[in-house]
Order: sequence, then structure tokens, then C-alpha cells
Amino acid sequence: MKPVDRHLADILATVRPLAPLEVEIEAALGAVLAEDVASPVPLPPFDNSAMDGYAVRAEDVAAAPVTLPVIGDVAAGDGGLNALGPGLVTRIMTGAPMPTGAGAVVPVEWTDGGTARVRIDRPAPLGNAIRRAGEDVRAGDVVLREGARIGAAQIGILAGVGRRRVLVRPRPRVVVLSTGAELAEPGTPLGAGRIWESNSFMLAAAVREAGAEGFRAGSVTDDPKEFMDTLDAQLLRADAVITSGGVSMGAYEPVKEALSPLGTVTFEKVAMQPGMPQGFGVVGPDRVPIFTLPGNPVSSFVSFVLFVKPALRVMQGLPAGPPAAVRATATAPLRSPAGRRSYLRAVLTGETVAPVTRQGSHQLAALAGANALIVVPEDVTSLPEGAEVEVIPL
Ligand code: AMP
Ligand code: MG
Repeated sequence: MKPVDRHLADILATVRPLAPLEVEIEAALGAVLAEDVASPVPLPPFDNSAMDGYAVRAEDVAAAPVTLPVIGDVAAGDGGLNALGPGLVTRIMTGAPMPTGAGAVVPVEWTDGGTARVRIDRPAPLGNAIRRAGEDVRAGDVVLREGARIGAAQIGILAGVGRRRVLVRPRPRVVVLSTGAELAEPGTPLGAGRIWESNSFMLAAAVREAGAEGFRAGSVTDDPKEFMDTLDAQLLRADAVITSGGVSMGAYEPVKEALSPLGTVTFEKVAMQPGMPQGFGVVGPDRVPIFTLPGNPVSSFVSFVLFVKPALRVMQGLPAGPPAAVRATATAPLRSPAGRRSYLRAVLTGETVAPVTRQGSHQLAALAGANALIVVPEDVTSLPEGAEVEVIPL
């Protein structure tokens, strides 16, 4: 059997970051930055008031309480360069440019709020309530680095440095296709011998959680031709394809039957549990990566975490990285088949981890109740209660 790490290495040696694309910043949410973004100006661009109040010469209010004449107003957006003479003050609003000569802002709360003359009750130290030019960003400073995931705050600073468009790695478009003659669409009646189709919903959601676009292509029966026709039609819009089912050792394995003759997709047994039957390769003229995952729902989910997620990171220009793992103490004995790495569904609470009781690869409800996978190495077949184990939080 092929080691898990080698299967992942083969996948990572094949997938490539998507070509960068310039998009409107409003369309950049969730994408990964493909350039360093610098500010062309300092931010704030000019000294301005942090509060509503009065711009003063600090020395004029040192002996407060004092009453001084108000020569006018400076509002946010005023562009004229006002100068403030000795003994005079001006009303000033938050965000308004500081008049030259003014060294401090007295908040309106420290005054009687006068408009012709104002009584100032407290002295304001030099620089009080002034936001200095460049105190957030200096001109030329890089505010976002290539490889940053663009969230709401990142869109904010892109706009804040005046950018309208930005170079990103687009979110990979990933088509998810399930196979199985037994599959019925959720929401339709369940006939004899049938089960509701869950994998395409789960995997498309996992794709979105991984920062890519997941498209559910639904499910096809176990007819290899129907599978191939659907795949062909879907390839047009895909940067990657995930299939579920149809790759095991039995008969009626449409994915294996349809793709094996192409010679570009390899089907192998990977030394893991769940998820032993795996396939990976490329399809179509554009050599689109295809992950053919096993059909058991828990197997396909674990396979996604181990193989597809790192690949999607690489396609987004991010380091594949090992899945973030922690160490915890097992609250029950653990068992694992010899020669295969186990990923046991578990509940992680602080420093302890409890395996769930139902570890079957079809037991999806148990997966839905878990929040972590316990990793049991290939050469370990049992561990006692209290053993320290590696855990992948989900
Ligand atoms: P297969 O890998 O096609 O042999 O399927 C293995 C097991 O997973 C079978 O019991 C299938 O019924 C089940 N299965 C396959 N695909 C799905 C799916 N999309 N949703 C839920 N169960 C599935
Ligand atoms: Mg099947």
C-alpha cells in the first residue's frame, strides 16, 4: 500500500497555483493576494483632529480656565490651509485638517461650547487629540503582502490606500460529482435500496470552507458513460474536480472504469483508514486535477482533509502546510489496523480527546458529532487509555 505522505506528495507535485487575475476590490473577498500592496500616500494623509472641539495653541490654554475668541470653523473635508494666530481658537470637527500654528485640540466636552467666544476649562497638552500624518501608514509602506487572504478588513485597507483593483489568485472553481445507482436526492422519497446522497453537499461545503468555490454537479448512476459525459460537460468550468464513489474493488465502479483507460489518473490503495481506495490525476485538454475519493461518507471527508485541502491551498498560492495538529490525552483505549494510519473521529476538549464510539466509515452522524481526528501511526495497533496522541482539529 502507498503511504499517505507519498500520495499527498504526488498530488502536490502536480497541482499549480492558479494564474493571478486583476479584479475589482469588491470581488476580491476570500481570494488570496497575488501582489504586495503599498500605500501611495501617508495615512492619515494630513494632520487632523481626532475629536470635535477647538484647535488651539497649547500655550494659550496652559492657564485654563481661559476664555478665547473663536475665529471660525474647520469641518472634515475643508481643503483650505487655515492659520491660527496667537490667542485665537477655531472650532474643529473630527477628521478636519489642523490649522497651521495649532498645537492641540481641546475636546468640546472641556468647554462651554461657545461659537463666538469659548470658555476652556482645562489645559490641553501639546499634540492633544491630533492624528498625525503617516501615523497609521507611511508613504510607500506595504500594507498587505502577497499570500494574504482577503477578508473584510483587508478590503477596507485596499480601499483606504486608494486601490480600485487588485491582483489576486482567484478562488479555484471545484466541481463535485457523486456516483452511485443507490443515491437519491435529499428532499425526494427514498425508494427501496436507496440512500440520500450526502457526499456532494458535504464536499462542496468543504471546498468553500477551504476558500475555494464549490459547485455541486449532483450525482450520476454507475454507468461509466454517463459519468464520463457529465465529467466532460463539467470540465469547462473546473479548476479541479472531486468525485465520490466508484473507485473500489467491486463491480460497477464507474469512475475507475471510465478513467483508467485514459492513463492520466492513477488508482491506488493508500495505507489509511478510513479512505483506502484513492485516485488522483489530470483530465481533459487543460489537464484539470481530479481527486477520485471513496464513496463512504467518512472516507471521502477524511480524504478531503488530507489530500484535497492542501492541494486547494497550493492552487491559491498558499503553502500546503501540514494540517495543524495538537497533542492530547486519549480518554479511552484506541485500536488501529496494522500497516495503516488511522484517523479516528473524536471530540477534543482542551487537553483531552475522546474517540466517538461509532468508527465505521459509513457512520456520518458520528462524524457530524466529532470535532477532531486522532491520528494513530501505521505501526501502532493499540494504545491504552491515557496515551498521548496526535490530533487534527476539524
Ligand atoms: P463506493 O465507493 O461507490 O463503493 O461507495 C461506498 C459506500 O458509500 C456505499 O455504501 C455507498 O452507498 C456509499 N456512498 C457512495 N456515494 C455516496 C454519496 N454520494 N452519499 C452517501 N453515500 C454514498
Ligand atoms: Mg458506488
